[in-house]
Amino acid sequence: MTSTLQSRTSWEDLRSDFPILGQKVHGHPLIYLDNAATSQKPRAVLDCLNHYYERDNSNVHRGLHELSNRATEAYENARKRLAAYLGASADEIIFTRGTTEAVNLVARTWGEANIGPGDVILLTEMEHHSNLVPWQLLAKRQGATLRFVPVTPDGRLDLEGFDRLLDGPVKLFSFVHISNTLGTINPARELCARARAAGVATMVDAAQSAGHLPLDVREIGADFLALSGHKMCGPTGIGILHGRRDILQDMEPFHGGGEMIASVGFTESDFKPAPYRFEAGTPAIAEAIGLGAAADYVDAAGRDRIFTHDQALALQAIALLEEIPGVRILGPRDVRGGLVSFVLASAHAHDVVSMADQYGLALRGGHHCTQPLMRKLGVPAAARASFYFYNTPAEVEQFAAIIRRIHTFFA
Ligand code: PMP
Repeated sequence: MTSTLQSRTSWEDLRSDFPILGQKVHGHPLIYLDNAATSQKPRAVLDCLNHYYERDNSNVHRGLHELSNRATEAYENARKRLAAYLGASADEIIFTRGTTEAVNLVARTWGEANIGPGDVILLTEMEHHSNLVPWQLLAKRQGATLRFVPVTPDGRLDLEGFDRLLDGPVKLFSFVHISNTLGTINPARELCARARAAGVATMVDAAQSAGHLPLDVREIGADFLALSGHKMCGPTGIGILHGRRDILQDMEPFHGGGEMIASVGFTESDFKPAPYRFEAGTPAIAEAIGLGAAADYVDAAGRDRIFTHDQALALQAIALLEEIPGVRILGPRDVRGGLVSFVLASAHAHDVVSMADQYGLALRGGHHCTQPLMRKLGVPAAARASFYFYNTPAEVEQFAAIIRRIHTFFA
């Protein structure tokens, strides 16, 4: 089916591709609003995994037999598919376990070679721990300093002093594209352009954006970009690091082992070119192939249309939540990604989420792996509803009704 044909498919039809969504939880129809943590998988991805294990399962790159050739071809086709998904070349696509591993890879390889004593790593105050802790570890190892673009009270980046922050011995600016806590969409292209003009390398954490809006790495202009497959209808344990070809070719390996070598001696080895030098050991073959199927699926649904749909659900949720006395919404009110974090004056987020579960409503509660941001906002914990294209306006209404009931119970 072509993308145009399928993008005329209704959301209801797409929803019916997700077997998990048809179940009841605690006697209620499941309302799955925890998509920022992980998305559900369509039958096309589940069938792809099954098909691979039932017919083609073998190790890649080293076999001289039919199954190994099939597995290798499917794995490399997935790399090409993800390159097309991001507007990149296949040799710029490194399979990782996810965003976290991609950031660690850059910190360990590019970071150790390019960041030294006195240098500055610029982040933002809204980073997920996975785009913060690896840089803290690197800064400690190298004697570098971390600086942060501040967040305004309404949850945007305060870009007033941005150019000043880029001044001095700043080597890297790494930032989240869509905040998993605030829903803020950061202007990736503009931020990368301003950093580049200051001679600063850039990395984008696209964990929350890759499955939700069209992404073109050339247009964004970052040196590195990371995503997690499981948040875009793909399997867990697989993600992508995109790196500019000229930068990747100069980088030292991350892990050492089989697959990433050209030749090995007892005391020294030579390595394959990128991307293979960064993929040591047997890779997550089925997962990579499954991610290729997920990219097909998401593209056929239409990323621009997914973005509009998810945002509309988030704005609907905000409007309904704001009718509840004492509710606080985190993040911008207008343009945002498809997620809403909120705090009830009457109840702790953990109580909200546990009680919601009794109604079959899956939310997330806590610090959302952004502890420094939550401290800055003075919020110890928030509940979060996060949407995807298979969620419906009716589910948002049910969600709001359940939250209102929880508020009444605790008030
Ligand atoms: N960055 C952001 C913005 C995220 O939301 C997440 C996942 N919650 C991550 C990074 C880490 O992704 P993963 O756990 O898949 O490596």
